[in-house]
Amino acid sequence: MRIDILTLFPDMCDTVMSESIIGRARKNGKVEIHCTDIRDYTADKHRRVDDKPYGGGMGMVMAPQPIYDCFQSLCDEIGSRPHLIYLTPQGKTLTQERVKALAKLDNIALLCGHYEGVDERVIEALEPEEISVGDYVLTGGELPALIVADAVSRMLPGVLSDDECFEEESHFNSLLEYPQYTHPSVWQGRQVPEILLSGNHAKVDKWRREQSLKRTFERRPDLLREAELSDEDRIFLSELKKV
Ligand code: SAM
Repeated sequence: MRIDILTLFPDMCDTVMSESIIGRARKNGKVEIHCTDIRDYTADKHRRVDDKPYGGGMGMVMAPQPIYDCFQSLCDEIGSRPHLIYLTPQGKTLTQERVKALAKLDNIALLCGHYEGVDERVIEALEPEEISVGDYVLTGGELPALIVADAVSRMLPGVLSDDECFEEESHFNSLLEYPQYTHPSVWQGRQVPEILLSGNHAKVDKWRREQSLKRTFERRPDLLREAELSDEDRIFLSELKKV
């Protein structure tokens, strides 16, 4: 898969995407990530990419021309139109379900706004999907774009090693993950649950499933509506409801 980040701060994005698991995946060719400077496409002789808002008011607005030309150049380079996403607090909130679907595409392009946002006409012209990372406002779309790129990349084959598998993680199956522990078995007088030291894999799996159901029930009961539950899960949950 190829992910393009269209931004005024390509170095910031590239630095983050060069570290840890995603950096390793890029080196191993499991995902291709390109960070492109929108400013390189401005037709303005002073390399400006923004201007004051019509109608007055605070801040600056990103002009349509550099964004449009940057995206067209990307389409020409790839030879097709990548699925374009504009990161905006006005978009639909990102979910793991949406991440799973995006990870099936060959190309996605992430457009980062900055300042007061981007000129509405380029949104009308390019018709991107609009995604928000939550009901709060950041200074730019770079952190949200990095969130999307990270969440999508880690779902691609070979990006996570077997022991970093995502299938039991929170939200993958509409459940929160069970609690995790590592060495030492006693820390500050707190003991790791005995069952995890037993070596009995069937019992460990059962305990983890129950902990996952319990956490979801206590913290995010809304998720349980979408979760795939066995008869055993339902009995366990009905016992919890009685407590
Ligand atoms: N004036 C815009 C509004 O009120 O909707 C907010 C602009 S924000 C200061 C600048 C840029 O940051 C946006 O264009 C967007 O790309 C990005 N951004 C800020 N918060 C975001 C969020 N919660 N999710 C996704 N992108 C966000």
